[in-house]
Amino acid sequence: MTTGGTKMSAAADLIATEQRLGAHNYKPLDVVLTRGEGVYVWDADGKRYLDCLSAYSAVNQGHCHPKIREAMIEQAGRLTLTSRAFRNDQLAHLYEELAALTGSHKILPMNSGAEAVETAIKAVRKWGYEVKGVPENKAEIIVCSNNFHGRTLSIISFSTDPDARTGFGPYTPGFRTVPFGDADAFAAAINENTVATLIEPIQGEAGVIIPAPGYFTRVRELCTANNVTLILDEIQTGLGRTGKLLAEEHEGIEADVTLIGKALSGGFYPVSAVLSNSEVLGVLKPGQHGSTFGGNPLACAVARAALRVLTEEGMIENAAVMGDYFLEGLRSVRSNIVKEVRGRGLMMAVELVPEAGGARQYCYQLKDLGLLAKDTHDHTIRLAPPLVVTRSQVDWAVEQIGKVLA
Ligand SMILES: *Cc1c(COP(=O)(O)O)cnc(C)c1O
Repeated sequence: MTTGGTKMSAAADLIATEQRLGAHNYKPLDVVLTRGEGVYVWDADGKRYLDCLSAYSAVNQGHCHPKIREAMIEQAGRLTLTSRAFRNDQLAHLYEELAALTGSHKILPMNSGAEAVETAIKAVRKWGYEVKGVPENKAEIIVCSNNFHGRTLSIISFSTDPDARTGFGPYTPGFRTVPFGDADAFAAAINENTVATLIEPIQGEAGVIIPAPGYFTRVRELCTANNVTLILDEIQTGLGRTGKLLAEEHEGIEADVTLIGKALSGGFYPVSAVLSNSEVLGVLKPGQHGSTFGGNPLACAVARAALRVLTEEGMIENAAVMGDYFLEGLRSVRSNIVKEVRGRGLMMAVELVPEAGGARQYCYQLKDLGLLAKDTHDHTIRLAPPLVVTRSQVDWAVEQIGKVLA
């Protein structure tokens, strides 16, 4: 077997082996990466790329951030896993630091983003029965069309994407779907059994869809008026991606339950969390929810370092400034195949006209020029570099994008 070699055939061999032995549940661009540092990744042939996906915003802090790596190595040599059967000396610190940063009063640590979503669904259902007084098994959660919240059975049960959903029934009941950005439809869907609504502040997988101003203000008001828990899925938008710690800050609202993941570990390890500023998490009693790895000391140490560098190194402010600058650059690109450029902070998308023939071919052309981006929904190129990206790197990226779309 070849590991990290520079032979031209190495990448092709690895791809062939993946195709032969792996389930084909992904269709990656054919680039085999072997090393990363900051905004850059390198393939087995030593070619360097500017990463404009950041593992779907899991590496907001940049690849292999030295301080997160140091925390991980240090903790890995001390204590990695106790399970929650015993306590560890890292969890309380993570709680304290997350609470101080976000203002949340209760926290539940998990691993993947989907697990955080599942956890929130369980908690709000129980809250609905025990606190709100919804009749047993009648709880409803309002979700939005074109949502993306993960890949588990309950989550895909309320997906509106046929690829995500078809063939995986029977589905989990208890969800009602309304159009994203439509507060009137949301108001009409609320009834006495509505326990919560689950929304992305900006729909990422749907193609970076930003709702009109005022939408979230009304959703917040309707939730408060009807005793409905507002759950914001900030797994992608949170932790600096949009130029604020949480994307809800752009809307001037506060969720009752906030879900974070991805960049919570800076890409080193799966760490997610449910943050709650209401009584919702209080309904969970011993034995009713858990995870062997959730809240383990290694995860906590990594997450603590990941949060620290995010704030101490000014990454959130940089995302705001570089996001504006990048968007301005993208808007100046002369092209007749660009339908729309949109974004907030460093969460950006270039939507192409249908006649452009799909975004994927342009992602391949960008790859050849040394820029990695991912197509989403056929005709949209999503752009989300690590939050440490510099002005000259943005200039370079815009130049490459301009060449490909010209
Ligand atoms: C990535 C993502 C998830 C799922 O996270 P996983 O770690 O892949 O399970 C959920 N919600 C949003 C908004 C995401 O972007």
